[in-house]
Amino acid sequence: MDFVSTEISQLPIFLQAFVIAIAGLIFGSFLSLISHRLITKEAIVFARSQCPKCHYQLKFYNLIPLFSWLFQRGKCSNCHQKISWRYPLIESVIAVVFVANFFINKCLIDQNLLLLCLISATLILMCITDLEHYVIPNIAQYILAIFVILWLIHNKGNDAPIKNLQAAFLYLGFGLLLLWFFYLTTKIEAIGIDDIKFFFIAGLALGVKNFVLFMMMSSVFGLLFGPLWQLIRKERTFPFAPAICVSFYVSLLWGNGINLVGFFGSLIFQN
Ligand SMILES: [Zn+2]
Repeated sequence: MDFVSTEISQLPIFLQAFVIAIAGLIFGSFLSLISHRLITKEAIVFARSQCPKCHYQLKFYNLIPLFSWLFQRGKCSNCHQKISWRYPLIESVIAVVFVANFFINKCLIDQNLLLLCLISATLILMCITDLEHYVIPNIAQYILAIFVILWLIHNKGNDAPIKNLQAAFLYLGFGLLLLWFFYLTTKIEAIGIDDIKFFFIAGLALGVKNFVLFMMMSSVFGLLFGPLWQLIRKERTFPFAPAICVSFYVSLLWGNGINLVGFFGSLIFQN
């Protein structure tokens, strides 16, 4: 990693950001493929990409992230049928998030940036499969857990994952309690088993200290996004992953700087 980072870190900041945006587009293209094939259970690496409508084997110039779609005006170059906008959208989102991570990481290209990009990309993968299919694949959860453990070791030392294990069970227990509560009161599964597995990893990553912040943010985002989704899609359930993934990431990056108890205390006692 080091020889790459020293080469790139010689460039002006905007060029560095540009290189990271390109890396994001390429990674996003890979991610949009994985998110589709995890659900359809097709081979991830070996199956060559083809047009889903006419099965035309795509050439390399049909596979350039974002730009192929733009130049072909969102159509297959063989059968001229529309190609879903999910592909350029996912690619662009990953590129933007990678560049944001670069600036959050104080414009440093290092191991921490790599881990932040891998964690955020896995979270986006979970959001995609939940939005499209109401599923968070187990494999994505395992991968997230591995990246989180690496991030903890890198930032907080070798024993940090073990220290946070207690918190992981706290988050898990609270998730089960919520599941039971919602089932008793509304008879609908407002949160699913997949979300509860995610809570365990969130606990591992965020620790006891961020418990209130994470749960509060998840509820607020869920309450904002859920009814909106139900209104637009006319469905009873809604994907919870976007709310918990955003809360997870915000808590991971800025949790230690947000003092909820102090904030609410000052609101109450100032008046
Ligand atoms: Zn086609």
